Amino acid sequence: MRRKKLVVGNWKMNGRIAQNEALLRDILTGVKDLKKADYVACVPYPYLAQAQQLLQGTNLAWGAQNLCADENVALTGSVSPYMLTDYGCSYVIVGHSERRIQFHETDDTAASRFNSAQSAGLTPIFCMGESHDERDSDWTEYIVGRQLDSIIRRFDVSVLSHAVLAYEPLWAVGTDNPATPTQAQEVHEFMRARIARCDKEVAKKVRILYGGSIQPKNAAALFAMPDVDGGLVGRASLNAAQFVEICKQANE
Ligand code: PEP
Repeated sequence: MRRKKLVVGNWKMNGRIAQNEALLRDILTGVKDLKKADYVACVPYPYLAQAQQLLQGTNLAWGAQNLCADENVALTGSVSPYMLTDYGCSYVIVGHSERRIQFHETDDTAASRFNSAQSAGLTPIFCMGESHDERDSDWTEYIVGRQLDSIIRRFDVSVLSHAVLAYEPLWAVGTDNPATPTQAQEVHEFMRARIARCDKEVAKKVRILYGGSIQPKNAAALFAMPDVDGGLVGRASLNAAQFVEICKQANE
């Protein structure tokens, strides 16, 4: 099965209202004629309305970077799934390593967010990955397998048909040390095989993105791997020319 590639920009806590417009417009100009892949910008919450206004009706979708699992409860500072759909979001990042580490998210809370996102009609982009020490100890499959099972065991493998997975090794995110295409392929293949043990059709369908220091110079080789279905892009998504170039590689 040929899976359509997907490139997602994760702006993290970057952007200002004055600069976002130029960035989004330049990205749009670059991707508007690219038909063979899907493209998304995950912007900070305050800029969702701006993204909606600029991107509605285009081939650049938008999304958020996190959500709360609950609706209408006393949780100061939190944002619920339906607040995101109110602003036209299609996607939301769930379980990014920065949130797992700095905000103490666990497999369990990430799984709850995943479920709430889907219940509201959002497509979760579920992040998984091992640390440098875990890779050195040969624990990569154990960690990624455990993170994947946190979804499969609690819900059902079928939920992955309406989700995107992202392999984001912690040692590659925000560094200048991307995984090699072979390293990425090994883990993506492992994930897909684990899903296939439960349901072969879901395994064939689910898109698994690679994330961690993707740049124009390494995107093509990563995207050429059979189980790499696109990328989750941090820093390079803040530069229109770089992001568009990565989108073009996914469109090949
Ligand atoms: C990310 O934070 O999801 C990410 C992949 O960042 P970067 O591309 O900057 O490594």
